[in-house]
Amino acid sequence: MTPSDVMPGRVDTNASTLAVLAERLPGVIFQLYRHDRSGQLCIPHLAGRGTHLLGLSPDELAIDARPALERLDKEDYPRLMAAIESSVRWMTPITAKFRLRLGNGRTVSVALRAHPSPAETGVLWHGMLMDISEQVAEEARLRKLSSTDDLTGAANRRKLMNRLDEEVSLSNRHATPLSLMILDLDHFKRVNDTWGHLRGDDVLRNLAILCKQTLREEDLVARLGGEEFALLLPLTPLAHCQAVAERLRQSIAEYDFGLGEGRVTVSIGIAEHRIGETRDMLIDRADRHLYAAKHAGRNRVMATTTRDTNPDLPGQPGRPGEQSLATK
Ligand code: GH3
Ligand code: MG
Ligand code: MG
Repeated sequence: MTPSDVMPGRVDTNASTLAVLAERLPGVIFQLYRHDRSGQLCIPHLAGRGTHLLGLSPDELAIDARPALERLDKEDYPRLMAAIESSVRWMTPITAKFRLRLGNGRTVSVALRAHPSPAETGVLWHGMLMDISEQVAEEARLRKLSSTDDLTGAANRRKLMNRLDEEVSLSNRHATPLSLMILDLDHFKRVNDTWGHLRGDDVLRNLAILCKQTLREEDLVARLGGEEFALLLPLTPLAHCQAVAERLRQSIAEYDFGLGEGRVTVSIGIAEHRIGETRDMLIDRADRHLYAAKHAGRNRVMATTTRDTNPDLPGQPGRPGEQSLATK
């Protein structure tokens, strides 16, 4: 009995069957060769349905792999070269993901896996390439979802804390300025009570837009929770942050939220990171300044409290009945 008697469609595996199989594979299989002395790479063989998408001549690639390598994304190229060098050195497989420009100009994300074996005067890899663009796009979508606040589209608390950790560490290492604003809507409960929760939600959405419009691309607008936002401004000293906060406060007070003039105002507490200070210490100081702004009458920006200017005085108490924002 032959295998084709058992499985309909199965035929004897001769060379021509393997060639058909290789040509129809949803991806690319290849051999890659690196000459020991010159370090030059070439692709002696490649097959698979994706091969023609490259729009490159297999005969040329068999002599020199550069036309294919030049299609790699600028950032990914050095990473793949380093992976190849490491594979040569340790005879370990290459596992890499990179972006590749196709013959038609479209860029796709591909995953590469290749196993090295010593060959005469060089190293020969056998490997495969798969298009993983859909998977990469889905991962990006999920990453965005997990770091975004549903209601306002601003960053969420998790994203803020991660970014704060990064920026505080940079500021501690390089002494670069870093400022944080914490913004809280004034008497927002009244807005909800008067206009309803849905209109309140609209105010929060518009507020997030106003914040983003006022800040730079590299700044971060995050919803801390409820009607509180945190705005992180890297490479920004306190005086500059104060000017931005004042401009933002004013534009919010003047903005027509559809509830009549003067109905929506915010209080803002700001703090500049001090070398050696942790993330939570920075948040606590900005939060204390916000509390001071509320205490002083709302609709204002505060960068200090009485304790900041006179260290002999007892500090501002925390907000009544509230835990520290940093540890909530
Ligand atoms: P203050 O000036 O002292 O900050 O007064 P406030 O009324 O803003 O402060 P309070 O903490 O008493 O009330 C916050 C209100 O924010 C209560 C709650 O109904 C409202 N709020 C919190 N989250 C949301 C939300 O997602 N949507 C809406 N519409 N309202 C929210
Ligand atoms: Mg409030
Ligand atoms: Mg609040």
